[in-house]
Amino acid sequence: MRAKKLVWHIFPANLLITVGSLLALLWYSSVAFNTFYNNWLAADLEDRAYLIEEQIATLVGQNKPQELKALCRRLGRKTSTRITVIQPSGKVVADSDEDPDIMSNHSNRPEIVTAFSGKTGSQLRVSATLGVKMLYVAIPFTHKDGDTNKFHILRMAMPVSAMDQALQTLRIKVALSGLMVVLLAMFAAILVSRRISRPLEIMTEVSKQFAKENFTTSLPITPHCSLEVASLATAMNSMAQKLRERFNTIVQQRNELQTILTSMAEAILVVDNDKQIKTLNTAATFLFGISAHKAINKSTQEILRNINIERLVNATLTSVKVVTEEITIDKGGEKLFLQYSGVQLHGDSGHSFGAVMTFNDVTHIRKLENIRQEFVANVSHELMTPLTSIKGYAETILDSTQDDKEQTEKFLQIILRQSDRLQAIVSDLLELSRIEQEIEHNEIHLVQTNLKTVLEQAIQVCTHKAAEKHMEIQLECPPLLTAPIDPQLMEQATVNLLVNAIKYSHPANPIKINAGLLSTGNNQEMISISIRDFGIGIGQEHLPRLFERFYRSNKDRSRKLGGTGLGLAIVKHIVQAHNGSVEVISEVGKGTTFTIVIPTGTQRDFPAMQK
Ligand code: ADP
Repeated sequence: MRAKKLVWHIFPANLLITVGSLLALLWYSSVAFNTFYNNWLAADLEDRAYLIEEQIATLVGQNKPQELKALCRRLGRKTSTRITVIQPSGKVVADSDEDPDIMSNHSNRPEIVTAFSGKTGSQLRVSATLGVKMLYVAIPFTHKDGDTNKFHILRMAMPVSAMDQALQTLRIKVALSGLMVVLLAMFAAILVSRRISRPLEIMTEVSKQFAKENFTTSLPITPHCSLEVASLATAMNSMAQKLRERFNTIVQQRNELQTILTSMAEAILVVDNDKQIKTLNTAATFLFGISAHKAINKSTQEILRNINIERLVNATLTSVKVVTEEITIDKGGEKLFLQYSGVQLHGDSGHSFGAVMTFNDVTHIRKLENIRQEFVANVSHELMTPLTSIKGYAETILDSTQDDKEQTEKFLQIILRQSDRLQAIVSDLLELSRIEQEIEHNEIHLVQTNLKTVLEQAIQVCTHKAAEKHMEIQLECPPLLTAPIDPQLMEQATVNLLVNAIKYSHPANPIKINAGLLSTGNNQEMISISIRDFGIGIGQEHLPRLFERFYRSNKDRSRKLGGTGLGLAIVKHIVQAHNGSVEVISEVGKGTTFTIVIPTGTQRDFPAMQK
C-alpha cells in the first residue's frame, strides 16, 4: 500500500471534526432560533389578540358582522396579521384575508380546540385557506349577548416565511464561515503536519546517510524542537557516534586483514558451509588463474574444478582439526605442488560457518630439491669415473709383481690425467658455488669498465690454447665502449666460451668476438658480446639444456678434451649476475655463436649494432 503524507492523515480528521461541529452548531442554532422565534411570535400574536379583543368583543356583542369584518380587515392590514373571529360552533364570522362565508368550519383546528377549553392555543402549519406556513394563536374572549356572557374565539395568524428566510440567511452565513473554518483547519493541518513531519524528514534523510555509512552528519537540535523530537534526535546522534566508532574499528580491522591477505604469498580462500567462496586473496587469484569478482559467491567446485581440492574442502568443513596435506594440481600443463592447510571457522555460538583454506605453492622448493638430488647424483657420477680409474690403476701398480718401469709410468700418467680431471671438476664446482654465493649475498659489484680491455685479457688467457691449434681470435669492439660489469667474472665467462670455441673447432679455424651496442627497439640499450666459431656445431636437440650443469652434447669428445660440463653453467650464472642473458645459435658442422647480452649504463656514444 502506498504510504500517505502526514498531512493526509491529520487533515481528514480535522475536517471531520470541523464539519461535524459546524453541522451540530447549525442544527442546534436553527432549532433554538426557530423555537425562540415561534415562542416570541406566539407571544406577540397573543398580545395583539388581547389588544384588539375588546373592540372585537363589542362588535360581536352588537352583532354587527359587517363592521366586524371591516374592523378585522383594517386591523389585519395595519398589523400584517391575519385576524379571524370564530363562533363556538367553529363557524368563521369574520376574517381579515378571506370571505368567512366560503371558509370551512374551523372547530377542528388544533389552536381552536385548545382555545375552546379556555386556554390560548397555538399551532404552526400550512394554512389550508392561504397555502402558506402560518403560526396561529387563538384566544377565547367573552362578549355580552343581552344579559348573558357568550364566548367566541379570536385567532391571530402570521406567516412564518420571514423566519424561514432569516434561517436560510443564517445557514448561508454559517456555511460560509464553515468554509473559512475548513480552510483554516486545512492550513492548520498543513502547519501541524509540517511541524511534525519536518523533523521526521530530516531524521529520515540523516538515517539514509547512516545507511550509506556516512556518520559525519548529525541531527540538529533547535529550540523549536519538541521534547520528543529533541530526545529522539539526541538518541540518534549518540547512536551515530557509537556506530561511527564501531564502523571505524571495523574498517581498520578490515583494511588490516585485507593488507595481510594481499601481502601473503600463500593463496587463501574463505568458504562458507555451502562451499561458496566468500573471500580470496591476490595470491589465490594468481595461483588458480581466476578473477576475484567472478569467484565470489561461487562454489569451489565451479571455480577451481579440482577433485583433490574439493576433497580437501569437504574434509576441512567436516573436521574440527586442522587439515594438512600436500597435493598437486595441473596449471596450464605445469604440475604444481601445493602444501594445503585448512581449518574451520567458528562464530560466537561455537557453530562452524565455513573454513579458511591456505595453499602454499612449494613447487619451487620441490624443484630445487629435485635439482639438488640430481646435482648430487651428477657430481657423484662425474667424480666416480676418474676416481674409479685412479683407484684401478693404483691397485694395478701395487699388485704388479714385475718391475716394468715403462708400464708403471704409463699407469701413473693415466692417474695424473684423471687427477687433473678431478681437480678441474672440483675447481669448476667451487667456482660455480662461489659465484652463486656472491649473487645470493649481493656481493657482485658492477662497475663501468672498458669492455675491449676485458675481452683482450680473455683472449690473452686463451692465446696458448689457440696457438696450439693454429687458430686466430679476431676481436671487434669499439675502443671506448664501457659496460657495468664485474671485470673478472666477465673475463671468466668470455674465457669459458673461447675455450669451448677452441676445443670444439677444427684447427686453423678462426674465432670471432664481436662486441657493441645493441638496439632492442624498446628504447633500451644493451651491450652484446658474441663469440663465434666455425667448428663442429651443436645439434638443435641439445640447445635447450646446454647451460645445465654437467650437460654435454658430445660426452666422449668433451671428456677426451678435459671438459667438465660446467663451463656453460658458469657462463650462465655470471651473465645472470649482470642481469643479462646468454643465447646460442648453432648448426652442426658449421659452427656456433654464443651471445651475451647485458644492460648498458647511460652511454649512447657508439653506433648501435643490429640484432
Ligand atoms: P665442457 O667442459 O664439456 O665443454 P661446457 O659446459 O663448457 O662443458 O659445455 C657443455 C657442452 O656444450 C659441451 O660438452 C659441448 O658438447 C657443447 N659445446 C659448448 N661449446 C661448444 C662449441 N663452441 N661448439 C660445439 N659444442 C659446444
